[in-house]
This record gives sequence, structure tokens and C-alpha cells, in this order.
Amino acid sequence: MEEEVYNADEKELFELIEFVVSFFAGAIPQSQTDIDNRQKMYEQSDHLKKFVIKHANTRFEFEQNEIEDEKKEWTDYYDATCTHCKFHSSFQPIGMVKDANYYRFFTFKCSKCEKEFRAEYPYEPHQLVSYYDTYIKNAAKRDKQGKIISMKINITEEELSGMIERYKDLKSKVHILDKAVMDYEKSEEEYNGLIKTGIFNYSEMKKTCIPLPFPPSIN
Ligand SMILES: [Zn+2]
Repeated sequence: MEEEVYNADEKELFELIEFVVSFFAGAIPQSQTDIDNRQKMYEQSDHLKKFVIKHANTRFEFEQNEIEDEKKEWTDYYDATCTHCKFHSSFQPIGMVKDANYYRFFTFKCSKCEKEFRAEYPYEPHQLVSYYDTYIKNAAKRDKQGKIISMKINITEEELSGMIERYKDLKSKVHILDKAVMDYEKSEEEYNGLIKTGIFNYSEMKKTCIPLPFPPSIN
């Protein structure tokens, strides 16, 4: 299916602008004020139309990129270690599994032993943050000041601090991304409000576009 660049509100606004502009183009001005007002209306309409076209196309491009990025998740290669034969390489996902906590993991097929295995970490960034968070909390026994007393899992303190660094880095990246998404949604909301106002204004103008009755025909 062909993707639509313009949404229903934008199309409605275009139609209204078109109607009002062509009505005024065909009307006979009664005064200089009429001529000036008409000119002003043309310019405003043209400006609004250009603004909507630009915004809708940027949004369309953004959405297409999102779709492409999602597709890419499945064609990209990920570093992983086979849980069966410990072969370390880059693999393309062949599927996805959920664990008991609903974390989603890619599954890969090992190119050495040919067995399937699950990725060590979830792939979705928010899930990965939460996964790291739980992992780090449960990795060591700590005193009240947070100092490590003993390790609860089979990794060294250095490995754990490396992981904590990666966790902090990931968390701030996810935070920046979330903020960008929120800003984008807020600006879209404002834009949609602007379109609604445009529809209202041009509908009001359309109401004043009363065609003159045809002159009576002369027999
Ligand atoms: Zn293997």
C-alpha cells in the first residue's frame, strides 16, 4: 500500500484553502480594501499551505526512517557468544524469545556448532537498562554505604564496575532519546492544534463565500 504523506486534517485544510482562494479569485472586488484583503488572504494561504507541506513531508520522512530502523534490527549483526560451544562472533538474529520477566532476547544460530542460542542481554534499550539495573543490584552483597562485601555471582569486581560504567552510559543515552521523543510528540501536538485552528478559520471564511445568484436570463 502506498504510504500517505498527508493526514485527513491536512487534506481537509487544503480543500478549504483551495475553495476559499478560488472563490475570492472569481469575486469582483468592490473597493481597494477588498483588493488589499484578498491579496493578504492569498499570501497567508500560500504561507500556511507551504508550512503544512513542509511539515508533513518531514514527518513522513521521519516515520519512514523509523520503519527502516526497525527492519534493520533484524538484518544487523550483533556480537554474541554461543552458549553451547563458546564461539564468539557476529550473528544475525533468527528469532526472538521472552524470559520470565518479559525481557525480549534475540536468538542466533551458531555458525560453528549450528545450534541455536539466546543473546545474553535483551535488545530493546529500556529493557536493557532495567536488566542491567537488576543484574547490578543482585551481583554483589554490599554494606550500608554501598561498599561491596562479597560477590554473589561469578564475575570480578572490575568486571562489575565495567558493567556499571556501560549501564550509566546506556541510561543517559536512553534518557536523551526519550527526551527527543517527548519533544517531538509535544511539537506534533502543537502542530495538530494549529491545523485544527486553520480548519476552523477557513470553514468560517467558507461560510461567507456565498455565490451570487445568476442574473435572470433575458428572453
Ligand atoms: Zn556454538
